[in-house]
Amino acid sequence: MEYEAVIGLEVHVQLNTKTKIFCDCSTKFGNPPNTNVCPVCMGMPGVLPVLNREVLHKAIIAGLALNCEISAYSKFDRKQYFYPDLPKNYQVSQFDLPIALNGYLNINIEGRQKKIGITRLHMEEDAGKLIHEEGAGSKSSFVDFNRTGVPLAEIVSEPDLSTPQEAYIYLNILKNRLRYVKVSDCNMEEGSLRCDANVSIRPKGVKELGTKAEVKNMNSFKAVEKAIEYEIRRQIKAVKDKEKIVQETRLWDADKEITISMRSKEEAHDYRYFPEPDLVPMEADKKWIEELRKDLPEMPDIKAKRYMDEYKLPQADADLLTSEQDIALFYEECIKHYDNYKTIANWIMGELNQYLNKKKLLITELSKLTSENFVKLVKLVDSGVITGKSGKEIAADVIEKGVDPEKITEEKGLKQVSDESEIESIVDEVIKENPEAVENYKKGKTTVVGFLVGQVMKKSQGKANPQVVNKLFKDKL
Ligand code: ADP
Ligand code: MG
Ligand code: ZN
Repeated sequence: MEYEAVIGLEVHVQLNTKTKIFCDCSTKFGNPPNTNVCPVCMGMPGVLPVLNREVLHKAIIAGLALNCEISAYSKFDRKQYFYPDLPKNYQVSQFDLPIALNGYLNINIEGRQKKIGITRLHMEEDAGKLIHEEGAGSKSSFVDFNRTGVPLAEIVSEPDLSTPQEAYIYLNILKNRLRYVKVSDCNMEEGSLRCDANVSIRPKGVKELGTKAEVKNMNSFKAVEKAIEYEIRRQIKAVKDKEKIVQETRLWDADKEITISMRSKEEAHDYRYFPEPDLVPMEADKKWIEELRKDLPEMPDIKAKRYMDEYKLPQADADLLTSEQDIALFYEECIKHYDNYKTIANWIMGELNQYLNKKKLLITELSKLTSENFVKLVKLVDSGVITGKSGKEIAADVIEKGVDPEKITEEKGLKQVSDESEIESIVDEVIKENPEAVENYKKGKTTVVGFLVGQVMKKSQGKANPQVVNKLFKDKL
């Protein structure tokens, strides 16, 4: 029997407000434990939470970015459970009336489009963090409440994903969209994006869903992909071995690349949700929502598709250029000056990206970089005025110092020499100095021409046009 997988993702993203969801404590990452706290977020008796308007604002923008309907009426609920990192013994979340519903994302997989439904997006507060003492004889655990009350949006997908690759693509689009609308940095390392994967299998052709396992603890999208891959294999093997699949939570072990059962969920949790009496319900101001909708930027996946259609870029280039909004905007500036779309894309993905990675900088931190100078540089190389090698050598000055590439070309005398008569004397010299290589060439070992051209390039300080040099050797030998 053949099986297919059914996957639904639950993604938590931290909304990037300065202060927490119900108090004015800072949300700053990395502060010493229990310094971003107050009676409200530590759940002291008698305190009253007050909703941070920015959280609502950003949750609505996130909902719009994911094609959701924004609820006309929405409220908070208490989700009761006991855990030492949850000081109130309940989490303020949203149950039956979440802020956003019925969204979707379109993913492209092997040239065809697939629509992935988004069931809901709701606001909630994060819990704290337990730190367990390590080492032999250790008995203590510590709790850090800096995270309690940090605002989250939980985004629940429909079980519409069928492969680990689809899950990977969906996550990337989701992350890029939320970054474009600036509601979250979606940084997985700092915990501002977390993803749980619900996985089940069923015989091909069967409509009914199988029993799912929820996999947690993945620290990158690649890990999510791998964990789902493993989980599908495990479940298929279990079914073939006539074992029963139980509803449970499993943890991804990144070292061993396996999932391990953490807790059985057979008697489904009863969280005793009830409306949060300390917070007023929210009614959407239609005008406000329409304004927010109008302000949405062109989304990265839509932009990528446009780059492919209008600029004829391959998908990989389009995806890369659009994954960071500021890079995409720079690209769009550049192509206003020069319509060699692919060459400019290559220079941005190559020279510019390498520079940014090496210096660990964002493009917005390059205050002197201008699209005019960058395009001039590309044109100088493209038209053969300077060699690609010279272009790369002066790229850093153009990128970092904002130097006019035409000026450096003049000052450093980088103009490529393409005039045969100027190059000929050097070619003759090299022939004279390398009788052995010349002999080999004449015997048919034509690959030595590479060596000979190299010698000319050296003598000309990289300025001789390599094509012309090649041609001269062929003529002369
Ligand atoms: P729970 O109550 O256990 O959290 P939900 O119905 O809220 O379950 O669904 C949580 C996530 O699991 C959603 O993303 C949903 O699409 C997905 N899901 C639900 N049932 C299945 C299934 N049988 N197989 C795979 N994913 C599923
Ligand atoms: Mg759930
Ligand atoms: Zn607080």
